[in-house]
Amino acid sequence: MQIKTDFRSDTVTLPVPGMLAAMMAAKVGDDVYGEDDTVAELENKLARTFNMEAGLFCPSGTMTNQIAIKCFTQPMDEVICDQTAHVYRYEGGGIAYHSMASVRLLHGPRGILTPELIAPEINDDNIHYPNSSLVVLENTVNKGGGACYTLEQIATIYELCRRNGLKLHLDGARIFNALTATGDEAQQYGQYFDGISVCLSKGLGAPIGSVLLGSKETIHKARKIRKAFGGGMRQSGFLAAAGIYALDHHVSRLSEDHAHAQLLAEALKETAYVAEVMPVETNIVIFKMAAGYSSAAVLGSLNEKGILCGTTGPDTIRFVTHLNISPEMVAHAIQTIKELKPARNS
Ligand SMILES: *Cc1c(COP(=O)(O)O)cnc(C)c1O
Repeated sequence: MQIKTDFRSDTVTLPVPGMLAAMMAAKVGDDVYGEDDTVAELENKLARTFNMEAGLFCPSGTMTNQIAIKCFTQPMDEVICDQTAHVYRYEGGGIAYHSMASVRLLHGPRGILTPELIAPEINDDNIHYPNSSLVVLENTVNKGGGACYTLEQIATIYELCRRNGLKLHLDGARIFNALTATGDEAQQYGQYFDGISVCLSKGLGAPIGSVLLGSKETIHKARKIRKAFGGGMRQSGFLAAAGIYALDHHVSRLSEDHAHAQLLAEALKETAYVAEVMPVETNIVIFKMAAGYSSAAVLGSLNEKGILCGTTGPDTIRFVTHLNISPEMVAHAIQTIKELKPARNS
């Protein structure tokens, strides 16, 4: 039987035995009644980590982002984000549907925004214009190939938002990857953001869950919105226990995923079918096909050899490294990448 190595996403990770044991042993109660101590422990643990007042455990990253956007906007407002942003591209049109807000799309290099890019897009108070009320950053930037913001970059954007009365939300689906790469302290984040979404089911390896962080007031409002979204959960401590385990055991190993991504990128650069590999900062490798090769053909021949990955466009492919990718799998993938002879376009 051929072994499958799954680089499609860091969402495909499976719970390890220690995590399953922690889940089985969790003390639970009804969290809608506010009686699940394990959920409260997870929420407080992450809030302390990022120096924020409170947290809210949600089923998905999409839900934490959409709740935050609803907390920080009114209907007819405008949200400012990069054109690659998950909140815009991959959340089912949720901003329009849930928040009745419009979106102003910017074009940051690899999805990274700056005060210079944002400032001219903030609307004046004029009856013709939607009211600019929220900036959303993504760290790391998924479609930017896992590009990171540094704390200094974030601080300058925060200053601009504060001067203009805008809220600032962070889609931190891969925030621990960013912290691992930049060496910045999670503690420093709380002062800059009104909301932070932290995903537990990506590289951290929990089966389910994201936590929204914010002020007590924001999280109080968010808890009611979560209920209206159908996201109030009962004995969710079983899932929160997986999140606590992930934070305790799987953050420090993220550097392994980053090293694996570097190795894959180096191998890809040496091949005839790859024109360009985006700089690798974290656990995502995005590369562009050379002229004459389609991403579908390259993906197809990788799949035949048991290497699963995804396309991000007609001529780009994405590899994501994670908890369930071992050094042996990376070595095997590199060998396959070197030997691969994908069909050329006719
Ligand atoms: C995965 C991801 C999310 C959340 O996705 P869910 O599948 O809803 O948990 C949010 N933002 C980014 C950048 C992501 O990659």
